[in-house]
Amino acid sequence: MPELPEVEVVARTLAPEIEGKTITDCDIYWPRIINYPDDKEEFKTLIKGQTFGRIRRTGKYLRIEVGEHYELVVHFRMTGKFQMIKPEEREQKHLHLFFHLEKEEEGLAYIDVRKFGDIFLVPKGEYQQIKGLYHAGIDPLSDAFTLEALQERLSSRKRHIKALLLDQSVFTGLGNYICDEVLWFDGEQGVHPQRLSHTLTPREQEGIYRRILEVIQHSITLGGNSFRDFTYGEGVKGEFKRMLKLYARKGEPCFNCGTPIERIIVGGRSTHYCPNCQRL
Ligand SMILES: [Zn+2]
Repeated sequence: MPELPEVEVVARTLAPEIEGKTITDCDIYWPRIINYPDDKEEFKTLIKGQTFGRIRRTGKYLRIEVGEHYELVVHFRMTGKFQMIKPEEREQKHLHLFFHLEKEEEGLAYIDVRKFGDIFLVPKGEYQQIKGLYHAGIDPLSDAFTLEALQERLSSRKRHIKALLLDQSVFTGLGNYICDEVLWFDGEQGVHPQRLSHTLTPREQEGIYRRILEVIQHSITLGGNSFRDFTYGEGVKGEFKRMLKLYARKGEPCFNCGTPIERIIVGGRSTHYCPNCQRL
């Protein structure tokens, strides 16, 4: 599933392709991919003749301005992706939406093998009505994400740190692999995923803050080079794997101390950690 860094890369990659381009028509092949409005003809009417504007990201949601009054809000879920294709390439499986762009050889296609993606066309400023954005926490790439904000949220709650970091109403966009990675510190004692959040020392809080920014920025940099078709593609996996210290490395030696990485379940999610570098 695409996480915050992947969606951020999609936003950055897609912007030069569609910003300022006018939608002349929209083909809908799988109407149920559109969550809102219910009336798909209304979706078409609202979007036809409008221009794609600024692209933003909130958590794992992509938000694309449509004309002055609307925005297209997209959650890719498992397999959704945007791709620029020529109109004659529309005869492909899993193509659910196609936006024709004025004076462009290619249009914007939404492709989704498993059809779990969510697409909304909502009046601007009303995206927070969407379930999932309603109680969205602080985005780690926003100005609101400060060390103080993180410390406040950690010390006021008594929960396993991993589960707290995964809670989208506390911080939005931190997915499973990021939450594992940020608890492992390079060259020093990290934090066990089951530590209670309010017991963390200032050193540990600062370490988690630093690692969140590090892992996200690093992922974005890698993604910027390797993401094709605006999605989390196969090409990125090699480079990406080298960056990851824990994820999918069960039984492999810790990069700090050589102890085999262990896997446990925390908050219902598969969790990797080093039993020596992240002691309870
Ligand atoms: Zn270790």
